[in-house]
Amino acid sequence: MSEIREVVIIGSGPAGCTAALYTARAQLRPLLFGSSIFVGGSLTTTTEVENFPGFPEGVDGPVLMENMRAQAEKFGAEMIDDDIVEVDLTGDIKFLTDSSGTVHRAKAVIIATGSGYRKLGLPNEDELSGRGVSWCATCDGLFFRDRDIVVVGGGDTAMEEATFLTRFARSVTVVHRRSTLRASKVVQDRAFADDKIAFAFDSEIAEIKETGGMLGGVVLRDVFTGATRDLEVTGLFIAIGHDPRTELFTGQLDLDTEGYITVAAPTTLTSLPGVFAAGDVVDHTYRQAITAVGTGAAAALDAERYLAARG
Ligand code: FAD
Repeated sequence: MSEIREVVIIGSGPAGCTAALYTARAQLRPLLFGSSIFVGGSLTTTTEVENFPGFPEGVDGPVLMENMRAQAEKFGAEMIDDDIVEVDLTGDIKFLTDSSGTVHRAKAVIIATGSGYRKLGLPNEDELSGRGVSWCATCDGLFFRDRDIVVVGGGDTAMEEATFLTRFARSVTVVHRRSTLRASKVVQDRAFADDKIAFAFDSEIAEIKETGGMLGGVVLRDVFTGATRDLEVTGLFIAIGHDPRTELFTGQLDLDTEGYITVAAPTTLTSLPGVFAAGDVVDHTYRQAITAVGTGAAAALDAERYLAARG
């Protein structure tokens, strides 16, 4: 049997790395599982990050994550690039199984598994991420000053992103598969009243075009007639939802209706003693690196207090 660790962290994005840094500095010798294929989390799929404080010139996403990891390791955090595939979090001692079948034991667990942006599933989509294709207007809007942009989606997030993007863009076309929006009325009304926003209803993106390594436009398809037309845009924002990575915890932890882990805000305490959650796996409101870092630090402090009280 493996030793019983004080704390095991699942996830190597900003939340997990920050939790590792704080628990390492608290002498808790954290062990972090950072995924076998997606080490460093969501920021490793982008290029320039301009809104992380402390970097006036901006910072490359993968570089920022390498630095976060190195800083945690410097203080003794142990990082394993593997997935946790099974957990039993219900008891006083938590059991976590990695992909080789090894079972790890811990007194406290911090979950920082993030959430995945839903994708269109089209060729070029991943390759052009950070090169005209984006999932986050707050993060990338400023890069699209005076550009023509398309936003895909019909919910509140899509309308809010479209409205936000009109601050920068020359034009924003909202593409939605249905003839009516799902967004709440007040959000819809704001979008309809905006001169810069046009709507392509009953339409979907059929093709993402690439020009010189950047987004070169999209092809729209009418979902009823199948007719296609080119749309000359240099920005594509995909706002069709997110999926929190919580399959592992279903049936053990309380999740909300959308599958996010519920915590006793403003703390990171979950429905099980000794289990804490931070970052995008909890947060469907802000979804920013800096907020993930903030709740990662809070989870570490909550875990530290829990372990101290537990003795
Ligand atoms: P994530 O970064 O998603 O990390 C979660 C990690 O957990 C992943 O590595 C995942 O593989 C791992 N994991 C999941 N399940 C397991 C398991 N079972 N075992 C082991 N590991 C597991 N935010 C900004 O503030 N500024 C930006 O400019 C910005 N740009 C972005 C650009 C893109 C393309 C994307 C996708 C996001 C961007 N964001 C940006 C948002 C930001 O990346 C996220 O808010 C942030 O990364 C969330 O951090 P997290 O630690 O909660 O989760």
